[in-house]
Amino acid sequence: YQGKRGTNGIVVYAGGEVAHSTQWLVVQAELRHAFERDELVLHYQPKIRLSDGEICGVEALVRWQHPTRGLLAPAEFLPAAEQSGLIEPLTDWVLRRALADQRDWLTAGRSWPVSVNVSARNLDQPGFAASVAALVTRTGTPADMLMLEVTETALAGDAPAAIRAVVDIVERGIGVAVDDFGVGYTSLSQLRAIPVSEIKIDRLFVDGLSRNPQSEAIVRSVIELAHGLGCWVTAEGVENEEVRRWLSDAGCDAAQGTLLGTPLTWNDLIETTAAGRTRREIPAPAGS
Ligand code: C2E
Ligand code: MG
Ligand code: MG
Ligand code: MG
Repeated sequence: YQGKRGTNGIVVYAGGEVAHSTQWLVVQAELRHAFERDELVLHYQPKIRLSDGEICGVEALVRWQHPTRGLLAPAEFLPAAEQSGLIEPLTDWVLRRALADQRDWLTAGRSWPVSVNVSARNLDQPGFAASVAALVTRTGTPADMLMLEVTETALAGDAPAAIRAVVDIVERGIGVAVDDFGVGYTSLSQLRAIPVSEIKIDRLFVDGLSRNPQSEAIVRSVIELAHGLGCWVTAEGVENEEVRRWLSDAGCDAAQGTLLGTPLTWNDLIETTAAGRTRREIPAPAGS
């Protein structure tokens, strides 16, 4: 999400989006109000276990219900949030909302862990792991029902602080997934030093599965690598049945994508899924 400042004060986003820097400032200013006005919303995308087709978790994805521009995708405001320090309150908001929503779906008989995306900036925040753990304790859900997704890029290169934060998070019993795996540059020795519980294969490779033999070779070796490290492996961006079957045959554990479920509001998620048996008793929240 690092925007590159080009000539003429134009900011070129990594996603190819171009905006004038005045617009950038407007987004930052409006985003501050978005918190007060309760304009942020979470959608949840199911993660499907390939062995039995059951939902084995859900990923929280933030959107901004903008008063005039409609529902904005994260690519339209996360870069501004990351550059302005607003990513700290944003992640805090997402975590609180996701944990509260999870309590409600656990009560509604859905025993799904929730995954929350965190940015590289969050990992540099002093005390980040401790504050997440405190939130989990306050909510009263078991720590292993929360998973934080960290992009491979946040961990790549010389990022000792980020790696220490990940270790700290994992030691508190919260899971960590490496997101968008394959497009960053994590070395194998770094991966060995990070006690992650899940690797998510970037949809760039998953998308290529139906037509590109190189993608097949890459995905096969990532699955093997993940299993060798004792990790669960999830494929992102599964859009057709052929790809789902290929992944299932290749031993991939789980998948996400439009074929299996698009991101939904809490209500739509509950309405379109059946209640299952809860795997464990959920303790009452602290202080209730
Ligand atoms: P991600 O974590 O890799 O999430 C997957 C993205 O792919 C989501 O886009 C999702 O809607 C989209 N997607 C899901 N299935 C498919 C598919 O089959 N095909 C295609 N083409 N796309 C699919 P979204 O919601 O726009 O989020 C984009 C990125 O923004 C996320 O990528 C994540 O890195 C970031 N993000 C989203 N929510 C948050 C958040 O609460 N905090 C932070 N720090 N980052 C977030
Ligand atoms: Mg993610
Ligand atoms: Mg991803
Ligand atoms: Mg992605």
